[in-house]
Amino acid sequence: MGRKEVILLKFEELKTLVEKCRICEEKFGFEPHPVFWGNENSKIVQISQAPSSTVHKVLKPFSDASGKILKYEWYQISDEEFYDTNNFFIGAMAHCYPGKDKNGNDKIPPKCCFDKWVKEEVKAVNNEIYVIIGAKASKAFFGDVSFEELVFNDQIINGKKAYVLPHPSPLNRKWIKDHPLFLEKRIKEVRNAVKKCINAR
Ligand code: SF4
Repeated sequence: MGRKEVILLKFEELKTLVEKCRICEEKFGFEPHPVFWGNENSKIVQISQAPSSTVHKVLKPFSDASGKILKYEWYQISDEEFYDTNNFFIGAMAHCYPGKDKNGNDKIPPKCCFDKWVKEEVKAVNNEIYVIIGAKASKAFFGDVSFEELVFNDQIINGKKAYVLPHPSPLNRKWIKDHPLFLEKRIKEVRNAVKKCINAR
């Protein structure tokens, strides 16, 4: 069996297992809805925090207010390009919406999902670049390096170039306002890298 067939088998096996996974049902108090988007040759592996309550219902990642900012303002690409699984593997620290805490905020994604599934998926995709979104996801990949340092400099994961973005949630406006160079300069570099990948091959 060749290398590509091994990757394919591993990826498809993981996808099936994740889609059936209900490990966190008791912890959540409702049936988990794992969101899985991508294929074994997606050019860009994007990892963010966790699906929102909107995504929990429609099972389509970034089909919410954060997605509008990410797709149309930051990447400046169409839905067709974003949801083409040859372009993007759209993952997160957890595949399921984790529910709300007592303050009405989304709960922190269950760590077991990253350890059990996401680490394996990241290894199984034959991608070109990574985009890591938000402080929680970047901490999982880069440890305690300052978030500003990560956002404003190119990074490396598995020997490939990686970019770190702040979360595009409208709730994150303060960070964007406090770091004007992000919209003035950095996002243009990330956008160019994303578009170059999409338009390659
Ligand atoms: S969050 Fe991950 S580990 Fe928990 S039920 Fe969903 S897929 Fe399974």
